[in-house]
Amino acid sequence: MFLDAQTNLVIDDEKEQFFNSQSKYTYEEYIQKAVHQVKLFLDRDQFYSGDFISDFASKNHLINANDSVNLTIDEALQEIKDLYLDHTIAFHHPTYVAHLNCPVLLPAIVGDLVASSVNTAIETWDQSTSATLIEQEMIQWVCNKMRLPDTSDGVFTSGGTQSNFMALLLARDEYAFKHFGLNLKENGWSDVVSKFRFFCSEKAHFSIKKNAALMGMGYSSVISVPTDDKMKMKPEALVQAIEREKQLGNIPIGVIGTAGTTDFGSFDPLETISKIAKEYDIWFHVDGAYGGGYILTETHQHLLRGVKYADSVTIDFHKTMFQPVCSSAFLVRDTRHFKYVSHYADYLNPLEHRDATCPNLIEKSIQTTRRFDALKLWFTLKMTGAKTIGSFLEKVHYLALDLYYNIKDDPCFEIAHKPELSTLVFRYRAIGIDCDAIHDTINLYIKNTLFKSGQASVASTKIDAKVYLKFTLLNPKSTIDDLLNIINMIKDTGRNYKTHN
Ligand SMILES: *Cc1c(COP(=O)(O)O)cnc(C)c1O
Repeated sequence: MFLDAQTNLVIDDEKEQFFNSQSKYTYEEYIQKAVHQVKLFLDRDQFYSGDFISDFASKNHLINANDSVNLTIDEALQEIKDLYLDHTIAFHHPTYVAHLNCPVLLPAIVGDLVASSVNTAIETWDQSTSATLIEQEMIQWVCNKMRLPDTSDGVFTSGGTQSNFMALLLARDEYAFKHFGLNLKENGWSDVVSKFRFFCSEKAHFSIKKNAALMGMGYSSVISVPTDDKMKMKPEALVQAIEREKQLGNIPIGVIGTAGTTDFGSFDPLETISKIAKEYDIWFHVDGAYGGGYILTETHQHLLRGVKYADSVTIDFHKTMFQPVCSSAFLVRDTRHFKYVSHYADYLNPLEHRDATCPNLIEKSIQTTRRFDALKLWFTLKMTGAKTIGSFLEKVHYLALDLYYNIKDDPCFEIAHKPELSTLVFRYRAIGIDCDAIHDTINLYIKNTLFKSGQASVASTKIDAKVYLKFTLLNPKSTIDDLLNIINMIKDTGRNYKTHN
């Protein structure tokens, strides 16, 4: 330790903490020690320690951001083991089947480590250089897979929610400009916008409504279209809804087709919806946050055929391409539509310096400083390969089907749907009980009991106000026996509820 004469700061000269040429051995040591702790996390028996929020009260001294501490790397890692790694949810564990969290691929982790260390900010060419080219290449790769035309383009986003936001924004501003000559970006709100209506299925992701609200249009600007018994949007109901809104004096401006609904993995009939959108001259967005990755499979490619007609597409690599969060993209059919989010700042990307051969990705993003999330995907495509990712997705789909056939005739279960992707929604039925409210209570009891005991994490959802359980399968390393093991836990817990209540 010494006192820096100029700044009067106490500096520890033994271990440089900045990432620079002096610290490369420390960097290596820190990363190796961190990796060692994470390896212990992988050896954990359960997906979760089962500690409840109240159990963390005793660890408050670890959580506290205290100004005076000066831990060594070993001490900090030990604290974070006790506080976090021993307790956090392990998505790679076969008993984790709750949400759309995938186990991640090692090449992607390497990409993330490199991106975090080098810390490229990808918004302008002069901050990112070849990183910009890598992001552009990943975008072109996925646009080609989706068979979008040469005019198509895209940008990495923080997730499906942000991608869907961009879709609604571009659709709205394009409609306002094309049909009313309005420049909403420059001039803001106009009364006619209150009449604009989006259409999506009643099973669409909540981010559609949430984003419409954030854009000042309100939930009421989103019309929910009924679905059929396979949880897919009914095209005739879409036409009826559009006509009804027109009669009310409202203005249909866009339709969102979901490729893989969050709960049921169902695909809306995209080709038919694209024709209806064309007929009414409205924007067609495909929300493929969950199902978009299935473009890499043989089994589901045909369900995504209509994507090539889309004006914009959402795809989450952090759901179905086994990437660490965040890694997601927004694609648009015509790159010119990005003008609705571009802004030229004198200090960053002045308009007079605009140069198409030297792109500034900030012109396509609603973020400014932005992570180099495309690098993880680059490592994955180079090392794992698109074909193998496709086979992983087929594997989890067949696992869901296998589970379905295993339990569909079991009197203990009521199944909501046949899996189209890799989810299965069902509810436990206590034999001899006919009351829905009691079944709701039992199913929630099962979910909560399994979670708190650290045995398994299963999700719940509602259909017609009734509580159901949900398996979301994204782990190609899980086996049917792993899943039937959870099914047995569900049955045991359900039976236990009956004997104790
Ligand atoms: C998960 C999901 C989203 C939201 O994506 P995030 O990456 O969580 O923001 C949007 N749409 C669908 C269909 C989804 O499943």
